[in-house]
Amino acid sequence: MSKSESNQPRIPSIGETKGVGNDPREQLEDTADPPGKIWFRDLDEAVIEADRCVQCASCVAACPSDSIGIDAEEKRPTLVRMCTGCSRCWDFCPRSGLRYERVNSLLEDERGLEEPELYAARASGETAAAGQDGGVVTALLASLLEAGEIDGAIVATESETEPLGGEAVLATSREELLAAGGSIYTQTMGLGQIDELLAEADLEPSEADLAFVGTPCMIQGATALDRYGHEPADPIALTIALMCTRSFEQERLHSQIESFGVDPAAVEKIDIADGALSAFDTDGETLLETDVSEFDAAGLRGCDECTDFVGAGADISAGNVGSEDGYSTLVVRTEAGKDAWNIAEDGLESHAIDRPAAHERITDWNDRRAQSIMPRAYDPAGSVGISYDEHREVYDETDREPQPLNPARVHQYEEWC
Ligand SMILES: Cc1cc2nc3c(=O)[nH]c(=O)nc-3n(C[C@H](O)[C@H](O)[C@H](O)COP(=O)(O)OP(=O)(O)OC[C@H]3O[C@@H](n4cnc5c(N)ncnc54)[C@H](O)[C@@H]3O)c2cc1C
Ligand code: SF4
Ligand code: SF4
Repeated sequence: MSKSESNQPRIPSIGETKGVGNDPREQLEDTADPPGKIWFRDLDEAVIEADRCVQCASCVAACPSDSIGIDAEEKRPTLVRMCTGCSRCWDFCPRSGLRYERVNSLLEDERGLEEPELYAARASGETAAAGQDGGVVTALLASLLEAGEIDGAIVATESETEPLGGEAVLATSREELLAAGGSIYTQTMGLGQIDELLAEADLEPSEADLAFVGTPCMIQGATALDRYGHEPADPIALTIALMCTRSFEQERLHSQIESFGVDPAAVEKIDIADGALSAFDTDGETLLETDVSEFDAAGLRGCDECTDFVGAGADISAGNVGSEDGYSTLVVRTEAGKDAWNIAEDGLESHAIDRPAAHERITDWNDRRAQSIMPRAYDPAGSVGISYDEHREVYDETDREPQPLNPARVHQYEEWC
């Protein structure tokens, strides 16, 4: 059954426990339209089939009945059992029901530090060599593990079977962190795999303290789940956002690399800095260097609507813009982030960020670009929740409007929605 066939009030999800009362309207923080059931098929049509999904896996994590799984081949959320129409997948999706800029602005007021602190920093030795830029994220996580502050960190490694494909891993030792160092320019959907990763590591969700590293959209989902008291976020003690203007769709990334006469399997590392994309082999030899705009068509189309370059809701953000080569730029934003920085700082070489204006410029540029593309209004003061009807009102009849379900999946929905 699709949404249009039901007028029943849906189970409110946003605002269940933290800071707001129990009234559904209040919980939805003044969403303009009355809530109705929203099914996963509505999200599928509005986001996934419309080629707007950014593979953050917030919907997978948010589903209370574990009805959404990950289609590993297509790298997309998919229904794996009966959908109850509870709407949480919609509510936590940053491309549909979640006004992430509102959550970020609420978190800004709650962060504890008066102003974010910006550093340029680098690790040394094998940690620096393992990292993408200064190896600071790896060094920081290793310090927290060794200090007993976390039991592990959800990070990314390259898939053994699919070159340049990202896989989420839970690293519980320095060695595993070193092996996972560096940037993967495809999404891992790690937010939707926390329970499985904990089980593999023999850790209890209720007892584990984890660091969670991800692109800003993954952090948007994780921080919203946490702020509104949803279980999947419970083990996350620290969030680290990797600054990001876009991620890539794996097959399109392969094709684009091949179009330069380069075998994707030979690429050991990709680097994106100062508007250029470079690919290197295992000896560090440059295989390809070009303007990053050559790879526009390989980017996830939903990234065009993302205003959140820095991952403003994270405890710490890490990037390279604004720092010299070989350094990472770090933004420490919350007390949890500051505590982590204090523990790691001694093992790092650090100073104030070299070019704060460059950092601000790319943040503003990304913001303006996304606002010019996204059909909905960017509104940090608006309601957290965006209703289905509100979404349709502004997305219908644009090039980002909902698309019919893939016929191959229709039978699934007939059975489960
Ligand atoms: C898709 C993407 C786009 C980016 N774009 C920019 C940009 O435009 N400008 C900019 O300044 N910085 C960008 N970055 C961040 C940059 O590439 C580095 O990650 C950052 O500077 C930290 O470097 P480091 O050496 O301190 O981190 P490292 O020590 O290399 O640690 C990075 C950690 O992040 C984990 N990780 C890597 N990729 C992913 C992923 N896809 N999902 C989840 N975890 C992951 C690794 O496993 C590792 O634990 C981007 C990163 C990604 C993944
Ligand atoms: S953008 Fe994220 S939350 Fe939305 S459908 Fe895709 S994976 Fe799910
Ligand atoms: S640009 Fe935004 S939406 Fe795309 S991967 Fe990066 S953080 Fe996610």
